[in-house]
Amino acid sequence: MSRRNPPLVPRLRPHADSVFAEMSQLALEVGAINLGQGFPNTDGPTELKEVAIAAINDGRGNQYPPSIGIPQLRQAITAHQERFYGIALDPKTDVVVTTGASEAIVAILIALVDAGDEVVMFEPWFDIYSAAISMASGQRVGVPMSGPELRPDIEALRAAVTPKTRIIILNSPHNPTGVIFTREELQAVATIAIKNDILVLSDEAYEHLWFDDTEHIPISTLPGMFERTITVASGGKSFSFTGWKVGWATGPRDLIAAVRVTRQHLSFASGGPFQYAIAHGLGLPDQYFRELRTDLALKRDLLCGGLEELGFGVIRPQGTYFATTDVRPLGYTDGLTFCRELPHKAGVVAIPHRVFCDDPEVGKPYVRWAFCKRTDVLREALERLRAGLS
Ligand SMILES: *Cc1c(COP(=O)(O)O)cnc(C)c1O
Repeated sequence: MSRRNPPLVPRLRPHADSVFAEMSQLALEVGAINLGQGFPNTDGPTELKEVAIAAINDGRGNQYPPSIGIPQLRQAITAHQERFYGIALDPKTDVVVTTGASEAIVAILIALVDAGDEVVMFEPWFDIYSAAISMASGQRVGVPMSGPELRPDIEALRAAVTPKTRIIILNSPHNPTGVIFTREELQAVATIAIKNDILVLSDEAYEHLWFDDTEHIPISTLPGMFERTITVASGGKSFSFTGWKVGWATGPRDLIAAVRVTRQHLSFASGGPFQYAIAHGLGLPDQYFRELRTDLALKRDLLCGGLEELGFGVIRPQGTYFATTDVRPLGYTDGLTFCRELPHKAGVVAIPHRVFCDDPEVGKPYVRWAFCKRTDVLREALERLRAGLS
């Protein structure tokens, strides 16, 4: 007898298609350079690898680590928050280690969002947010990054808030635009959150990836915000080991206690030996974090300079490892069309902002390029674009 039950529940069907899968497939088919997905093609510090290998050989972390994370890592996370931001946390109660920042986000939204609750986020958003809100049976509400520099539209945020708004998701440094929220913008978000008694999920996966004289400010350090903010971070992003999938959430103990419940019933625990390595990484001297930024800034300048020469409208990122371009100066109106043609025309893959938006008009002319790649790869990509687009 044939099965008549459709496999995926209706609220998750909008999340079935992945432009990353489509573009990676296309990249393979035509041998394109993949500047779509954001992962570095060089590994992080060797000493972190050695710590992980030693932990495996010594039998540390090879069996289930504590669900909330090994004490050494929780300690290192709280020391890091104190060192960089002056945030005081108790490693016993205010931290939970997760399988990457991704699981932290899902665990937070499932723990804190009930059916029908609204979650407000800036568009374009990171795709996991929208899927996780649907998993929690919440409603997502988009607020645009707008204007020529794609800054957060605070007026629209104010207008989007309703009595049903439970959480605002903030992501600064922001993927995909590369925008870093200024203190004034953060203060405006904070004022709205406090006035309406809304929680904030602050995704700070790119906390160490910022350039020039910009500065990353955790929103939880603003007056009145600590008690309503859960902050998420990613060992993969900060140490260039995206495959290790060690992330964490920090915040006030009552919110963390809630997230520990869902986390325990998602993956329970993960990455035992890698937790030792990331704990070591968090204690690296300032020089490590400075060099990470300097190296990435050179790559940003290389890619952005090349794209500008090709005639794109380039929005130079203040942080993250993504650059955004406007494709209209090249005669295109739609970044999705551009990205579907690009592998065939030039042998390069990029990602259209449109797929990170509910309102297709918000992201329509914009395309995201990852520059966390070796310099020779970026040069080759620019070479191909020069040949293919002229
Ligand atoms: C990569 C990324 C994450 C997920 O981080 P993992 O540690 O790899 O799970 C979360 N948020 C944003 C904005 C990201 O770009």
